[in-house]
Amino acid sequence: MMRILLLGGTSEASRLAVAVADAGLDAVFSYAGRTAQPVSQPLALRVGGFGGVEGLVTYLRNERITHVIDATHPFAAQMSSNAVRACGHAGVALCALERPAWQADTGDRWTHLATLEEAVAALPDRGARVFLAIGKQNLSAFAAKPENHYLLRLVDPPEAPLPLPNTSVEIARGPFDVMGDRSLMQAHGITHVVSKNAGGSGAEAKLQAARELGVPVIMIARPKVPERRVLASVEQVMGWLRGGADHEVASPAERGV
Ligand code: NAP
Repeated sequence: MMRILLLGGTSEASRLAVAVADAGLDAVFSYAGRTAQPVSQPLALRVGGFGGVEGLVTYLRNERITHVIDATHPFAAQMSSNAVRACGHAGVALCALERPAWQADTGDRWTHLATLEEAVAALPDRGARVFLAIGKQNLSAFAAKPENHYLLRLVDPPEAPLPLPNTSVEIARGPFDVMGDRSLMQAHGITHVVSKNAGGSGAEAKLQAARELGVPVIMIARPKVPERRVLASVEQVMGWLRGGADHEVASPAERGV
């Protein structure tokens, strides 16, 4: 009997949950539990970490999971790598739903960097007004440049004091639109955008807004995850669940992205 574990936290995962529910498949949707009010799902829900690879192996066995779909954010590399290892141990089928990375277009002023630390180093030492569109988890790296002003967009109001002295905080949940992001960036006099190369449509508006305003973007590349089966759309994942291996593409590691 097929039983699916869907690792979520992205808008693509939520779209896949609808398709899985509509197909009447037996599935559990899993959130890390990072946001106070996660988007509700049409599937059975569990929240919180599994306890590393070992904990995930135990969970897969106890819950008799036959298929894992990793639809986490491309920067959730720990979860993705745990999924590869745990599914290997437990003999469970795994595929990742992974949206293509964003590509620079005409008029874009992007600097491609490999890490957050390189992004910090690439900013001016003072006087920049930075749209830091990277979530709440990695803000402390920017404390090395406290004389810039940082506009943070967060899903929940911060509970602890922010690690940066000079900030404005915008509380909002995507998807975002270009007009809204352009107005936001103009209102805050943004001179630089720092973005993770998440791909997908939900967070893309800031990049088009930056293009229209001529604002430079520091684009952080995706972390590497171990080789796994990668599918690019909800439809392809549904095909895989139905037993077809159509549309399979090489993992990012194989493509050298
Ligand atoms: P991460 O660093 O890869 O994961 C850290 C730990 O959180 C994992 O080892 C696992 O704990 C737990 N975890 C992560 N995703 C989980 C899930 N879907 N279900 C159950 N446990 C999960 O991940 P992260 O970057 O902190 O991201 C956390 C969540 O936020 C992910 O679900 C991701 O899709 C979403 N998200 C992340 C970003 C981002 O920029 N990183 C952006 C938007 C959304 P155990 O080891 O205890 O199992």
